[in-house]
Parts: sequence; structure tokens; C-alpha cells
Amino acid sequence: MNPSPRPDFAARLRQQQQQRLQSSLQRRLHAAQASRPGHIQFDGRELVDFGSNDYLGLAGHPRLIEALIAAARAGVGARSSHLLGGHRDDHEALEQAVADWIGFPRALLFSTGYMAALGTLGAVLDRHDLCVQDKLNHACLLDGARLAGADLRRYAHGDAAAAASLLQSQPQRRALLVSDAVFSMDGDIAPLAELATLAAREQAALMVDEAHGLGLLGPQGRGACAAAGLGVAEVPIWMGTLGKALGGFGAIIAGDDWLIDTLINNARSYVYTTAMPPALARAMVTAVELARAADAERAHLGRLIECFRAGASERAWPLLPSPTPIQALVIGDSAAALRCAEGLQAAGFHCPAVRPPTVPAGSARLRISLSAAHRIEDVEALLEALGRR
Ligand SMILES: *Cc1c(COP(=O)(O)O)cnc(C)c1O
Repeated sequence: MNPSPRPDFAARLRQQQQQRLQSSLQRRLHAAQASRPGHIQFDGRELVDFGSNDYLGLAGHPRLIEALIAAARAGVGARSSHLLGGHRDDHEALEQAVADWIGFPRALLFSTGYMAALGTLGAVLDRHDLCVQDKLNHACLLDGARLAGADLRRYAHGDAAAAASLLQSQPQRRALLVSDAVFSMDGDIAPLAELATLAAREQAALMVDEAHGLGLLGPQGRGACAAAGLGVAEVPIWMGTLGKALGGFGAIIAGDDWLIDTLINNARSYVYTTAMPPALARAMVTAVELARAADAERAHLGRLIECFRAGASERAWPLLPSPTPIQALVIGDSAAALRCAEGLQAAGFHCPAVRPPTVPAGSARLRISLSAAHRIEDVEALLEALGRR
């Protein structure tokens, strides 16, 4: 006899698994093999890769590879957390390189963007605060505000007026306005100048996540904030990641001394974790140099974006408006999006379908991501294959 009415733990998860399968929402891992820039290899077959965030083609850059190998000769692990001896001159060199590049007073290295967002929001917010965010902000920003226990309010995508009403509705509360710079699944750019003006008027602080802006936008690829003329005065909490256009791994939070000191003391994902391998940090200094100097790659990428958008518009495809390498072709139905991605795979292109809950229900899509490692001919061939779908 079962002594307790307690429901079985695994039964619910098995049932959810069945539901995912039935609604084409099941996700599977598929291990790729190493391949040259702009490409991906599955089961020994090479595809042109339109699914990566390696926008500048730096992940496989010979100078970056050399820098990592050379630095790794001194050892692999950092051996402890930053505050207990794991903090090295390599980490500081990277922080300094990014701070110089983007023109911010100080920068702090986290191991990933996800950790940077959770740790930062957890350190700067408390449960009496208001946190106003774009509906389409990255999961780590939403999770960070929730974990901090702040009153999280979300406004319609890109709608600065809606953000203003949310702030005005609670004028007595300390407030933080948070936005992606470039939205990861749509590719459009936030109205950063408007958000900055609004934040100043409402005496709220502004945090911007440049995960998909850094390396791509603005002078020397300094990001969307720099492109909009915004610095630390307007964006006191700046976040950038190193796993996308920088071709590596890690994340930076930049700001004034008050912010960085707060994080070193109170960001739990900074304090209670092993420091990034110092060799990786050292190699990322080279990635910063390469990205800063990558004007030719950015110009080439601009031509690829133009070519893709012109081709899609000729064919009257429902492409979301985006001036960045993230181009979203919305299909709607998840099963249809999966079939489309499979068809492209058969034709030699890796172009994954992105489904809910990563994107809103009913907006499953192909997220086509262009890279300076592609040739114009690759984009033309993709357009043709998409036309045959
Ligand atoms: C990818 C991404 C992150 C997370 O960065 P990781 O370093 O991959 O953890 C954060 N914010 C946005 C907008 C992203 O696209």
C-alpha cells in the first residue's frame, strides 16, 4: 500500500515530455564537429552556418587561437574565486581593454552574460524596487529582476511611451529601466536615446545589455549605446558579452566605481564562483583588439545584410525589420518552422527554427544570423534555397 498521497516526482516530467513531443516543442541536442568559420559540421557533413552568433568570424581567427594556446601554457584553471586568489592580471587586462574600447570608467569580468545579468540585478535591486523591462528582453534580464524580488513590469516591445507610463505609475519607488540593445530573436535595435531621456526625466537608472551590439554597431564596434552617443552618464549599468561577435566567452559589466564595487561585494554570481580561466581572459584581450579593428568585416557584414534583405523583400517574405545580422523570418507554426529548417539542412544550410518559449507563442521562426565569415554567394544560395521551401 502506498503510505503517502504525495504525487510521483518523475511522472509529471514524463507527462510534460509527451506534451512537448505532441506540440512540436521538444528540443534535442545535436553535437556538431569543429568546422571552418561560417560553417558547421554534423555527422561529417559540412553546412553553411546561419545559426551562430559569431558575427565577425572571430571564433576561429588564427590570431585568437594562437593567443589562447600561448596563454594556456601558463596553466588552465584559475584555482579559486576572484576574492580568494583566483583574480589575475589577465582578468584585469581584459577589463581594462574593454573599458578603454567602450569609454567607460571601470569594467568587471563575469564568466557568462547570464551570470552577469543575474548577479548584477541581484546586487543593485531589492524587493522594494521597480524594474521596468522590454517584453522581449533576454531571459537572463527578466530572471535577474525576478530573483532580486523586485517589482518587474514589462512594456510592449520597443515602446518607450509604455515604459514611461510604467515608471510614472510608481513615482515613489527607486527604479531601474532595462533593455537589450539589439533584441536577440528579432534583431531590431532598442530606442536607446529615448529610453535614456526617459530614464533621466523619471530619475530612474538605465541598464543596457549589448550582447548583440558590441563589436557590430557604433564607431570601432563599441555598440549601440556608443552609436546613440550614450556613455556612463546616461547608461550607468552597461553590459556586454564576449561569446557573440567577440568569438569567445565571458561578459563585462561596465560603469562607475560605485557599481563595480557593489558587484565585487554583492553580486552572488561573481563572488561564489571560480574565476574564468586566466588564459581565456588573456585571449579575449586579442579578441577586443581584433573586434576594434574589424571595420572591413563590419562593412562586409553590412553588404550581406543588405543583400539578404533585398532578396527577401523582392520575394515579399515576412521578414522582421532589422538592420543587424539577426534576420528573423517568422513562420508562426512550430511544426512548419521545423520542417522549413529541415529542408534547409538537406540543401546544405544550418538555419535553426526558434520556437516558443524562446519567442512568443505563434511566432516560431527561422533566425537567420549572418556573419562576416560568409560570402555574398552563400547568402544568395540561402535565398534561393528559402525560395524553394
Ligand atoms: C546571449 C545573451 C546573453 C547571455 O550571454 P552568455 O554569455 O551567452 O551567457 C545575455 N543577453 C543577451 C541579450 C543575449 O543575447
